[in-house]
Amino acid sequence: MAVLTTARVLSHPRTADLISTLVENTFVRKFVVKALEKEVYKRAIVENVGKRLRRAQEDKFYMVRSMIYALDRAFRDGLISPRMWGKIFKVFVGNIFVNDTEWRDAFVARHGQGSAPPAFITISPGKRCNLQCVGCYAGSTAADAEKLEYDLVSRILRDKTEKWASHFTVISGGEPLMWRSQGKGILDLAREHQDNYFLMYTNGTLIDERVAEEMAELGNISPAISVEGFKEETEERRGKGVYERILRAFRNLRKVGVPFGISVTATRFNVDTLTKDEFWDFYMLEQGA
Ligand code: SF4
Repeated sequence: MAVLTTARVLSHPRTADLISTLVENTFVRKFVVKALEKEVYKRAIVENVGKRLRRAQEDKFYMVRSMIYALDRAFRDGLISPRMWGKIFKVFVGNIFVNDTEWRDAFVARHGQGSAPPAFITISPGKRCNLQCVGCYAGSTAADAEKLEYDLVSRILRDKTEKWASHFTVISGGEPLMWRSQGKGILDLAREHQDNYFLMYTNGTLIDERVAEEMAELGNISPAISVEGFKEETEERRGKGVYERILRAFRNLRKVGVPFGISVTATRFNVDTLTKDEFWDFYMLEQGA
């Protein structure tokens, strides 16, 4: 109960504002990280004893815990700005972690296990892309065809937020940063839906300084940038010159404190690289993913 209360207090808008300024203090940040870890453990494991498979719940706990620790490390190393941290608190902890989870628990209590609507959606607003990767899963091209209009995408987000208590949105593609409709793009969507946190799968080549700065100003969108390994594997599939543009995107994001991840497709061609410590050390420790 004490832990639940802690999470609720931490995610209150006023407390979150205060914490976003205090979080530079290592002691405060450590306290917050510990409180979150305890709450995740309670919700994932303690409250599900006898209800869900323990191993599956443990996997969920370890996944969320590693995200919390990755964010802590990113902040400690100066890779995440106080504004982003504040937004992560309000939206991730407040909306997604506390409010959405409580809504979902109440829904299940009323309608039974397995009845709750999805906690998030993945939406691909358009198929257009500036690359031509070998074996593109989306069959993308440079043509501005097969896309959803901005108003429709925005309405889908509004509906799932209001009706499903879902404040997390995954954007896929095509290349999301090439999607334009009704004079707007993906960052306008993040601006309009400030109560959502967006994870955007992107090839990263269009994240220049201006785009990175806009993401930092918005505070509610993080990119997961595709790599296939190191330069050789990445350019083999994605094209010559792409790797340098990806490293440039990492630099631009680090500079303004936007947390980012990498997205990797394991194949028989890159599995040896992906299973080496060197690969993970490079992206996680050197590049700050
Ligand atoms: S970046 Fe993604 S969407 Fe674009 S061609 Fe490559 S795999 Fe397809």
